[in-house]
Amino acid sequence: MAHDTIFDRILAGDIPADTVYEDEDVLAFRDINPQAPIHVLVVPKHRVERFADLADRSDAWIGRFFSTVSRIAGLLGLNENGYRVVINNGKDGQQSVEYLHAHILGGRGLSWPPG
Ligand code: AMP
Repeated sequence: MAHDTIFDRILAGDIPADTVYEDEDVLAFRDINPQAPIHVLVVPKHRVERFADLADRSDAWIGRFFSTVSRIAGLLGLNENGYRVVINNGKDGQQSVEYLHAHILGGRGLSWPPG
């Protein structure tokens, strides 16, 4: 159900998560199926289904979200060697959870292009 995704349940505290960062706007936790040594998901507390829906949010909110993603990557120690931020959108983008989230992937050299 679109409004009861796994991330809604994590944000509600119904399901535990391996939290690495939290503030009033976002929760960041380790991906349960990591694709890199460091794989963290950053989820906004205000529900947005898809990246495609970001036009409904204010520029200030969008800016805060991305600056927080950047700050979390730094807190994870990834600034020196680099990392990748991924947002999957919709069916062709392989979005499996219908709640906007940014993946932060790092801790190894990542290949390009993605599949
Ligand atoms: P996406 O395919 O972009 O929608 O990414 C969804 C991500 O959520 C996947 O990388 C999953 O491994 C991850 N995931 C699903 N359930 C959980 C969970 N309970 N805790 C942490 N990560 C999860």
